Amino acid sequence: MDLGIQGRWALVCAASKGLGKGCAQALVGEGVNVVVTARGEPALQATAAELRALNPAVQVRAVAGDITTPEGRAAALAACPQVDILVNNAGGPPPGDFRDWDRAAWIKALDANMLTPIELIRATLDAMAERGYGRIVNITSGAVKAPIDVLGLSNGARTGLTGFVAGLARQPRAASRNVTINNLLPGPFDTDRLRATMVGAAQKSGQPLEAVMEARRKLNPTQRFGTPAEFGAACAFLCSVHAGYINGQNLLIDGGGYPGTF
Ligand code: NAP
Repeated sequence: MDLGIQGRWALVCAASKGLGKGCAQALVGEGVNVVVTARGEPALQATAAELRALNPAVQVRAVAGDITTPEGRAAALAACPQVDILVNNAGGPPPGDFRDWDRAAWIKALDANMLTPIELIRATLDAMAERGYGRIVNITSGAVKAPIDVLGLSNGARTGLTGFVAGLARQPRAASRNVTINNLLPGPFDTDRLRATMVGAAQKSGQPLEAVMEARRKLNPTQRFGTPAEFGAACAFLCSVHAGYINGQNLLIDGGGYPGTF
């Protein structure tokens, strides 16, 4: 299927690794020019080189910076001639107990996982509407639908974003101009972040890492973790011309891990 987005420009945040990288790869594969961001320059440049090799016909710009800061967002936006597609992403907050989280911890989580995507939407939405095309995909978490006890900062901050987006996506001013906003809710995906969580669990339980990972895989109906490529393909479809009537949705990509009928 031709996704009909060749030649468009996408800003894919936090994309040197993992799910963001999977999204950038899928979009570049569809002929979309991309600006990719991350804080660490070496991994970002390596990813940019991979993306250029994947599709030499597209432009790939790498902007090193912290997307949760005003400077990081300004640099990312400045590098993108026009943002037709915005993929919001940033690192997730650390696990822990809410008794240990002070105001500063909450503000950090809110900045990264709620306010940064809202700021980037604010910077791009009206211009998308004027041009008559826009696709915004927020990478959130399955924790929005089924909270994960140790990830209270994530549960809280991401649910705030989800509530805000639910209202914004339904405002006709942008929706009637072919601008959609949707959230992708990952379950367990095989990325550095997941592995780091598993390393922590292995150390805590005294079990070998592979045993902890296998037990986690077995909890999922598919008996495996998802891949960044699978995640990226879903993102690219939401960004496509074919997805213009999918708006304001929360799409869980978790291999059926969430046990509800809906
Ligand atoms: P990952 O493999 O650790 O990759 C994170 C990427 O984001 C890296 O490129 C990282 O590069 C970049 N990044 C992190 N913080 C950033 C910041 N402040 N500014 C710019 N770039 C930043 O993580 P992932 O598994 O892809 O997770 C992506 C998001 O999905 C996270 O919010 C995570 O909590 C959420 N999620 C993941 C899973 C899963 O199973 N993987 C499940 C549910 C939710 P630098 O470190 O160099 O900046």
